[in-house]
Amino acid sequence: MSQILRDEIDARRDDLIALTQGLIRIPTLNPPGRNYREICDFLAERLRASGFAVELVRATGALADSDRHPRWNIVARREGTRPGDCVHFNSHHDVVEVGHGWTRDPFGGELERGPTGDRIYGRGACDMKGGLATSIIAAEAFIAAHPDFAGAIEISATADEESGGFGGVAYLAEQGYFDPARVQHVIIPEPLHKDRICLGHRGVWWAEIETHGRIAHGSMPFLGDSAVRHMGAVLAEMEATLFPLLATKRTEMPVIPEGARQSTLNINSIHGGEPEQDADYTGMPAPCVPDRCRIVIDRRFLIEENIDEVKAEVTAMLERVKAERPNFHYEIRDLFEVQPSMTDRDAPVVRTVADAIRKVLDTEAGFVVSPGTYDQKHIDRIGRLKNCIAYGPGVLDLAHQPDEWIGVQDMIDSAKVMGLTLAELLLPR
Ligand SMILES: [Zn+2]
Repeated sequence: MSQILRDEIDARRDDLIALTQGLIRIPTLNPPGRNYREICDFLAERLRASGFAVELVRATGALADSDRHPRWNIVARREGTRPGDCVHFNSHHDVVEVGHGWTRDPFGGELERGPTGDRIYGRGACDMKGGLATSIIAAEAFIAAHPDFAGAIEISATADEESGGFGGVAYLAEQGYFDPARVQHVIIPEPLHKDRICLGHRGVWWAEIETHGRIAHGSMPFLGDSAVRHMGAVLAEMEATLFPLLATKRTEMPVIPEGARQSTLNINSIHGGEPEQDADYTGMPAPCVPDRCRIVIDRRFLIEENIDEVKAEVTAMLERVKAERPNFHYEIRDLFEVQPSMTDRDAPVVRTVADAIRKVLDTEAGFVVSPGTYDQKHIDRIGRLKNCIAYGPGVLDLAHQPDEWIGVQDMIDSAKVMGLTLAELLLPR
């Protein structure tokens, strides 16, 4: 990496801190999707000043878009001096709820200088406003060091990743922003750690299963039919056959943590019988046999699995219960599905970033796959762009936690990896 680029990044340390703090101080909570316009305006001002052409794009009509909480996105593009590839950094600007247990102001952007290094605290510090700020600093430093670059650099900050990305990357992909004719390399600075490359994620299938019964007086349950007992039989069958089956399915995907290197299933919720009463209701519940019981399942599947087989396993399990249990009736409804995504290790962006990690950090890059999904799914499936990875600073375990933080040195190191990646992809040799 050129000394001039290294120096340009080191010289921006205070700017990087201030930019990260500025982003954290705009509380872009999702749901419901607050201050999306404000954060896009903040970024637009910054990126225009750095010579980017800026577009603000509202995902009009997308899931959750409303006049009260419009889904705003920003796409900024800086052209080089001659034709070449476009490198796109995509970050989501939304953050999840604060939750309990904080000892700092979640939207204060507090900087703590400590013996283990400087840290910036706040909701979104690591997931992923720190990564967004890092990519901006990397691009600005690269442009200052090498103004004669070829191709183009794009930086986007998008809505709603935490709730599926429909008002963000999915919308932009539908509008052609990730068309491989327009963009050739995508880096998503999610907090996967500065020396690791995330190639993709497992697949997802959410479904709701409902068992049916018949309401009756609770003192004479034999006159009704309990949907909760029917669901109990489903859960027993799941324990006896489905969970053991899933535990045998192992993947070649380098998923982290290790426990996610197999098929998994979570029961997100269970509801049966009388609805829960409001907190201010002080009376007793009424005696009824529950006539409906519902669970929502969250099945995460592997690149070796096919979603139709994944669904068929669950249906087969329900049919086994039905065969053994009188009056057993059920319905199953699809809620959401995402195909697994894994970029090839030989893809240009993977090789270039791995090389940059080796040169900047003097270590071999780790290759990982995320247990949960992120916006790569939309770039892959809707945008049809396969040359995409997640790479960014921060400790993944801190995401969505109280006292979330990002290390300043990790951001600087990552900015150098990103800067060198730009140099390799956009400077003619
Ligand atoms: Zn994230």
